[in-house]
Amino acid sequence: MLEYSEPVAKLIDEFKRLPSVGHKSAQRLAFYILRRPKEEVEKLVEALLEVKEKIVFCSVCNNMTDADPCMYCSSPTRDRSMICVLEEPYNLVAVEKTRSYKGLYHILHGSLSPIRGVGPDELMLANLLPRLMPNNNEGVEVKEIIVATNPTTEGEATANYIARLLKPLGVRVTRIAMGMPVGSDLEFVDEVTMDKAMANRHEI
Ligand SMILES: [Zn+2]
Repeated sequence: MLEYSEPVAKLIDEFKRLPSVGHKSAQRLAFYILRRPKEEVEKLVEALLEVKEKIVFCSVCNNMTDADPCMYCSSPTRDRSMICVLEEPYNLVAVEKTRSYKGLYHILHGSLSPIRGVGPDELMLANLLPRLMPNNNEGVEVKEIIVATNPTTEGEATANYIARLLKPLGVRVTRIAMGMPVGSDLEFVDEVTMDKAMANRHEI
């Protein structure tokens, strides 16, 4: 990148490491930073360092938290007999928003992808198995694992892998329903979604 002085080129390169940021967006972010007052940039740097210093993985469910175990794992009111498995910590917010799920969580921090070279060992899955023992779950037996990975090829592969792993242990493994988005029209739904919606139909 000959057109920029070295510090600017370095900043652009750092921004390019961020997810979904290409070269043009990285340039835009770098020049935005260059135009901001120094105090504002210091606040940004402080916020970045603070999360790195204070936020850790929950040793039970792998959620990102400033207290270990996290607020869900340590809550006396959550239903410890259910564990909802998610790909990313921000997926937890989506489930919590419904206010209808009161169980615990397990965050994988990714999904299986042979193309990207992500195998089971790259996921934070190993610490799910010990949680099924009542001794490790405040004496409560886990009755159901709800696999809420994304409805993508990777998410489906991950769900199947987890089901194969856990079913022999006698625990009920369920998958969230997939189908028609609420408020949509049959006309605009793709065939895979339609197929799932038909398969996941229920009596009315
Ligand atoms: Zn936790």
